[in-house]
Amino acid sequence: MGSIDWSGRVVPFPQELVSTYRTEGLWGTLPIAAEFRAVAEKYAERDAVITSEGRLSYAELDERADRVAAGLVELGLDPGDRVLFQVTNRMLTVVAWYGVLKAGLIPVCTLAVHRAHEIGTIAERTGAVAHVVEAGTRGFDLVAFAVEQQAEHPGLRHLLTIDADPDQPGTRIEDLGRNLDAPAARQVVDAVQAGIDPDEVAAFQLSGGTTGVPKVIPRLHAEYWYNARAYAAAWGWDENTRNGHLIPLIHNAGIVCGLHGPHSVGGTLILATPDLSEALPLLAVSGVTDVLLGHGHYNAIRSTEFDALASTLRTVVLSGAKVPLPIFERLEGLGIWSGQLFGMGEGFFAVTPLDAPREARLTTVGSGLSPADSFAVLEPGSEVEVPDGDVGELCCAGPYTLRGYFDAAEHNLGAFTSTGLYRTGDLVSVQTYGDRRFLSVEGRLKDVINRGGEKINAEEVEVLLLRHPDIISAAVVAMPDERLGERSCAYLVGHGEPLTMADIQNHLDGLGVAKFKWPERLEWIEEMPKTAVGKIDKKRLHAQIAAQVQDERRSLA
Ligand code: AMP
Repeated sequence: MGSIDWSGRVVPFPQELVSTYRTEGLWGTLPIAAEFRAVAEKYAERDAVITSEGRLSYAELDERADRVAAGLVELGLDPGDRVLFQVTNRMLTVVAWYGVLKAGLIPVCTLAVHRAHEIGTIAERTGAVAHVVEAGTRGFDLVAFAVEQQAEHPGLRHLLTIDADPDQPGTRIEDLGRNLDAPAARQVVDAVQAGIDPDEVAAFQLSGGTTGVPKVIPRLHAEYWYNARAYAAAWGWDENTRNGHLIPLIHNAGIVCGLHGPHSVGGTLILATPDLSEALPLLAVSGVTDVLLGHGHYNAIRSTEFDALASTLRTVVLSGAKVPLPIFERLEGLGIWSGQLFGMGEGFFAVTPLDAPREARLTTVGSGLSPADSFAVLEPGSEVEVPDGDVGELCCAGPYTLRGYFDAAEHNLGAFTSTGLYRTGDLVSVQTYGDRRFLSVEGRLKDVINRGGEKINAEEVEVLLLRHPDIISAAVVAMPDERLGERSCAYLVGHGEPLTMADIQNHLDGLGVAKFKWPERLEWIEEMPKTAVGKIDKKRLHAQIAAQVQDERRSLA
C-alpha cells in the first residue's frame, strides 16, 4: 500500500503509536469510504441525511456517491488528486463529499465565502486539480468565480458544480455516473478503495493559523474516522440518533460532528443552514435528538421557536464561547442536557463527559475525547507545566491530533514541543472536580479573531492592508460583539486624510479577500502604541476597543 508520494510533506504518526492505536481498537483498517460503506449496508433503509430538499437513506446515499465516484474516475481524476470544496449545507454537498472520497480523491475544505486571495493560495499550496462549487448561492456567483480561478490557476483542470443548470459551465455532480448501473459504479469504487492506505491523507482542513500564510492540516483516513467514532461514543449515539447541524458542513466540526459522527453509528444527519427561521422548523419536524450550536446560535435557545424541539431533543452541545448562565438554565428548564465542545481542525477535542457535575458542565469544556489523548498546560513559550488552576498554553497529542502541518517543515519546528505535543495557541486552566480534571478556556496566545467560529488571521489582514499606499501601519484586533462573539477592528496609521471604510473595502475587494476578514471598524491613530521590546502593543489596543464598545453600548442602553 502507500500509493501517493508526498515527498516528506506529510508527517506520519510514529509507527509504534499506530500499532498501539490499532491494537487498542482505536484506529480501524479501512479508508473512510469503506467504513461508510460498511455502515450503509448495515443500516441501508434508515435515513442517512435529511435536508430541506428531502431525505436520502443510507442505501440511496451510498449508491448516489458510488455513481459520482465512478463519474470522477471516468473524467480522468486519479486517487490522491486534490479537490477544492466551495459549497454550503446542501444534500449534494454530502453526496459529493462521499463521492470524492470513494474515488480516492482528497477534499480540500475551503469555505464558500473564500475568494480569489484564499482560493488561489490554497489551490497552489495543495496542488488542487478540481474545484467543486455550488450554483445559486445568494449574492455571489461561485460558478463564474470558479471559471476565473481556472483561468488564473491552470492546475485546476476540472470545474465541478452542484445545483447548476445544464447550460452553466462545468460538469454537474448530479450528472456524474448517470450512464452506469449501480453494480458497475460500485465495482469502480471497490477497485479504487482496495488501493487506499488507511494511514494516508483523506482530507485537507485549513487552520485558523498563527502566521500570515494559511496552514494546511492533513487528516488521515483512520484517525479522522476514529475522531468521529469517538465523538459519537462520547454522547452515546446509535442508529436512533438524529443529529442537527447548522454551521458549515465542510468545516472540521461539520465533518466530524455533523457528518461522520452520526454516520459512524448509522444515525441521521439533519443538515440545516445557519438561518434559524429555516433551521428550527426542519429540526423540529425531523425529530432532532442532538444538536451542536455555535456561539452565533446561543440566543436561539432563548426563543419561543426553540420550544418546538423540546419533545425530542435530548442533548445540546455548545461550542465557541463561554456559556451564559441564562442559556444553560433555559435548557435545564426544558429538561435538555447540555454540555460543551472545544475542538480544532488540527485534531484535539475536549467534550463534557455525560456524568460531569453541573458546575463543570456550565463552566468547563470537559476533558479529552479519547482515553489516549494527552495534554499539558505549559507556561507560554516554555516546556514548563503550570499547576492546576493556573492559566497556560494547551499543548496536546493523541490518536487524532496532527503530527505536522502539510508541507511546512520549518513552521512545524516551532508548532510542537520537544515531546511532540501540538502547541494550540489556546490559553486554558485545569479545573479539578474530585480527582477529575476538566479544561476551562481562558483566552488565546495566537493572533486570530474568532468571528462567530470563522477565524480571521490578524497578520494576514494587516499585510493586505499595508499594500494600500496610504497606510503606514496596521494592527487588527478583536472587538467584542454580542452576536458573533468577536468582530475585527483595524487600528491604522496613515498619510494625510483618513481613508473611509468604503476605501478600505474596495482595497480588500480588489485583492480578492473574503469579506468576513474585512475589518468592521476603523480607528485612525497618530502612532501605534509599542511594548517595551518595540512591538505594536495589541493587548492595549484590544483593551481600548473593548472598553470603547462597552461605553457605546451603555450610552445606547
Ligand atoms: P477551528 O480549527 O476553526 O475549528 O478552530 C479551532 C479554535 O477555535 C481553537 O483552537 C480555539 O481557539 C477555538 N475554539 C474551539 N472551541 C472553542 C470553545 N468551546 N471555546 C472557545 N474557543 C474555542
